[in-house]
Amino acid sequence: MSEYYKVVEIPGKGLGCVAVKKIEPGTVILTGEPDVIAQRDTSNPLLPSKKLIESLMSSFKNLSQTGQEEYLSLHNQWVEKSDKILPKDLILGMNQDEKQKILKVYGIYKTNTHEDGLNLKMSRFNHSCCSNAAFGGLGVERTKCNEIRVVSEIEIGEEISINYAPTSLFMKNFQTRQMALSNDWGFKCSCNICVDESQNNADDLYEEFAMLRQEFPSEGAQEFESFTNTQRKIAAIRKMYSLVQKKKGSRIKLYTISEDGLFAATSGYIHAKIEGNRALIGEFLNEAENFAKQDARIRKMVNGSLADEQVKRSENTKQWLDEQSRFAPLFQDSDSEKLDKMRNRKMKKEEKKAKKNAGRVIVNKAEGVTDGYDIEKVLEELGELDLGKKSKKNKSKK
Ligand SMILES: [Zn+2]
Repeated sequence: MSEYYKVVEIPGKGLGCVAVKKIEPGTVILTGEPDVIAQRDTSNPLLPSKKLIESLMSSFKNLSQTGQEEYLSLHNQWVEKSDKILPKDLILGMNQDEKQKILKVYGIYKTNTHEDGLNLKMSRFNHSCCSNAAFGGLGVERTKCNEIRVVSEIEIGEEISINYAPTSLFMKNFQTRQMALSNDWGFKCSCNICVDESQNNADDLYEEFAMLRQEFPSEGAQEFESFTNTQRKIAAIRKMYSLVQKKKGSRIKLYTISEDGLFAATSGYIHAKIEGNRALIGEFLNEAENFAKQDARIRKMVNGSLADEQVKRSENTKQWLDEQSRFAPLFQDSDSEKLDKMRNRKMKKEEKKAKKNAGRVIVNKAEGVTDGYDIEKVLEELGELDLGKKSKKNKSKK
């Protein structure tokens, strides 16, 4: 029995988890390793193999009687399509009972698996487009997903939910979300935000977000065109952040927006330093400090810990920025034309280096080395097979 929640019947959703006390953001309410694991065939990790089915069935049979019953009561989105989920040769020659059992166990596994296995207790948390909890435990080490962490304050009696929707549904309007959830995962979401938006059109906020994102894509956060452009970019990033907050969008995405802000401010800082513009150096330092602190605060809450790099940039931003711009020296004033030419040449060279260096920040981000954990990204990287199927949990599981 958890001190934080109880599993109860939720109208229209089957079983779900409801808070039995007020829970603060950052609280880990459940930890645990997967109860059932199917070993992927490394030579073909995306397709079900004989090895995978054998290890799945053996892992399932290792559960206690109660565990097996609990497992079989989980939602299976493949009930009507069970003949399509396994290649025929894998169930060839089996008797009907055996075949049905395998299809059911595999269908439930596919519906509820959490990256590297199925945890019975974690499978009880329903989907919400404005979820108040998230999978955690990958944190800095990015090992496995083994905890449920609260990401916004939860009141007693409130359902605790997780957002399984892929990145593509982030900040998308009601119709788009419903269509995708229904087409791809076979259920109609009835989370608070969906209920609200089914009556009150909120498209303008999503459209505003989409327009800003299109003009200032995440990938271009660190690119430098001009100081004015960087200032506009930072203002747009701040606006996007507030739109996500307004729509209670995924916290996991919220820190990626803060990080974009940090990278934009970093490129502004580097170039302000190249030009020796003290006012702009101060302005971008200030922006970078704010974004780095915001990023660290959310990351810590969602992941539980920060990588050294994230601690450094949030606690000692100036030092961190100066390291990013160590190829960009400040120049002395001079009226000598010759020296000016030399200086310009040097400046161009250094600017190139500085740009290259600024790019490293992004490389870190792309590689995810120091980056926090992004469940959608991790799931997507693992292939479509298991992605999103979990969301089916929103539907009745009984
Ligand atoms: Zn929803």
